Amino acid sequence: MMHSEHLAISGQGLSPAKKEALLADFFNEMSEKKQNFLGYQTNQDVSFSSSLQPFLSLNLLNLGDGFEDGSYEINAKQFERAVIDYYARLWGFSSPFSPRRYWGHITAMGSTEGNLYALWNARDYLSGYAVEGYQQEVYVQKPPIAIFSEAAHYSIKKACQILGLTTFNKAGPFLGTCPINQGDWQQALATKESGAVKEGDLYKLTEFFVEREYPVILILNHGTTFSGGSDATRRILNHLKPILGTNTEQDRRYWVHLDGALSANFSPYLNDDPFAITQDPYEFRHPDVMSICSSPYKWIGAPWACGIFLMHEQYKVGSSHRPAYIAGRDSTVSGSRQDIYALYLWERLTTLGTQGLKKIALENEHNAHYLHQQLTRLARFQPNITVMPKPNGSNIVRFSTPNDKINRQFSLAQDDVDVKGKTQRMSHVVVLSHVKRNMIDALLHELSSPYAFKNTQIRQHPLTVNYFGFFK
Ligand SMILES: *Cc1c(COP(=O)(O)O)cnc(C)c1O
Repeated sequence: MMHSEHLAISGQGLSPAKKEALLADFFNEMSEKKQNFLGYQTNQDVSFSSSLQPFLSLNLLNLGDGFEDGSYEINAKQFERAVIDYYARLWGFSSPFSPRRYWGHITAMGSTEGNLYALWNARDYLSGYAVEGYQQEVYVQKPPIAIFSEAAHYSIKKACQILGLTTFNKAGPFLGTCPINQGDWQQALATKESGAVKEGDLYKLTEFFVEREYPVILILNHGTTFSGGSDATRRILNHLKPILGTNTEQDRRYWVHLDGALSANFSPYLNDDPFAITQDPYEFRHPDVMSICSSPYKWIGAPWACGIFLMHEQYKVGSSHRPAYIAGRDSTVSGSRQDIYALYLWERLTTLGTQGLKKIALENEHNAHYLHQQLTRLARFQPNITVMPKPNGSNIVRFSTPNDKINRQFSLAQDDVDVKGKTQRMSHVVVLSHVKRNMIDALLHELSSPYAFKNTQIRQHPLTVNYFGFFK
């Protein structure tokens, strides 16, 4: 680790040689970490094409709405639109010859911004604002209620806080007895071992608010952060349709947002035809899903965080703000968006093509399966290790957390998981394209040591070191 005093910025600056040495050291340190980086959802296999290099000498920005040209001429909105159009086809928002009915953008942040945008739009739509599809504002008496499971990403709670959205736990106590969790409003909407929401509970909770004529915002997961499991979106929405009813201009009843930060990037490629919508209960491409976001950098790999946000255009809250300064709609959370993101994604998608993308998805799946199988085998000899079943379509493998040294060595993220009524601390491996067999084998090797699941504390003072285990 480098000492911060070496990096201090002084008036004299640093000599080129010193600077080069510092940067080289830092690069080596990070590259070494990459060799063992198994525990987070970011693909470290980044390939930045030399054909994009010249664009780094420009300040390419997309200002405001990507579907309007605006007056800031050094932009790459055509590339952004090409990328958005591609995801619209992949996520079932469009077919090749239909007129465009979706709206979206490449976010300046990742799915955090996608979630924030979705909930912002949902709140205003359900509060009666004019939208693209219906130009009239309507009066709505009750505030929308956000419903999400305990597996929802922390950015959902943050977005609710920023937007002042009422969550089901907050509103519930004023309205009656909680229909789930033995009447306790303070508990979360629980999930199964896979990380998927308990559907019966979700139905009861939704019904509770709909019966009292509250509009609801349902947030579903496609690939949870810790397990990679998904909610059965198709089954859930087909079941809920009669309860939710139909959104009309006068009657704003519900919003369904799908957080697909990780899995919406790749799950279609696990099918023969990635663009064909299936009848699978876990299919996330459903007409009642009104907005979707993902973080492409997590799966394709990119030198920065970035996100895709898509929604049905008819529900977009018509922005009343058209600053003369940019000559277009100020439709996004961030004012300026980095266009190099759009160029980068366009370059990757056109280089890999459907076959290349399918190959990555299948390789990840294959390696995740291998790790899961080997861990299950190991668990027969290691009584301390529980290996969780791998949810279908997930590239994440969860197992009992090993000692601190191993967690640190492989950058393994941890979380508490309820296993048959008992809370267990787990670690996970996210299998992305930089995770090769040799890395998996190195982890398996460490985990097979008899000390792998013991936190051995080495005492520093010679007198307190006890080699015979008297001090426990
Ligand atoms: C990572 C993640 C996010 C947030 O994405 P960022 O790119 O970090 O903003 C949101 N939801 C889920 C499920 C995630 O895994």
